[in-house]
Amino acid sequence: MSCIFCKIIKGEIPSLKLFESEKTLAFLDIGPLSKGHSLIIPKFHGAKLHDIPDDQLAEVLSVTKKIALAQGVQNYNILQNNGRIAHQEVDHVHFHLIPKPNETEGLGITWPTK
Ligand code: 5GP
Repeated sequence: MSCIFCKIIKGEIPSLKLFESEKTLAFLDIGPLSKGHSLIIPKFHGAKLHDIPDDQLAEVLSVTKKIALAQGVQNYNILQNNGRIAHQEVDHVHFHLIPKPNETEGLGITWPTK
């Protein structure tokens, strides 16, 4: 399986994990649009939203809520891209949680610089 996010799930590619359960993983985005930008993914591999079983999707949304609460952000965007024209680059369903910059001061979460 050449899916980058499946490799992250298996620990074959390092990531900064925020939450993990049997069905769901949350980790920081390698190219954050704002401080604390994270990705919440079902462990079930599927490229598009309609490929993912409902029980997996339900947990993804509840984990997204937990991450936002843990980060203490009140203003944020949740984004899920389907298909190249919709700017999907990684073909494993993922939800972006993107805090608004003025809400993330002092979060203390950063992606390591190379
Ligand atoms: P998309 O455009 O598919 O909705 O977003 C894919 C996201 O995955 C991008 O924001 C990109 O920065 C992130 N990403 C791609 N490869 C990696 C990786 O290896 N590790 C992490 N943490 N994020 C990645």
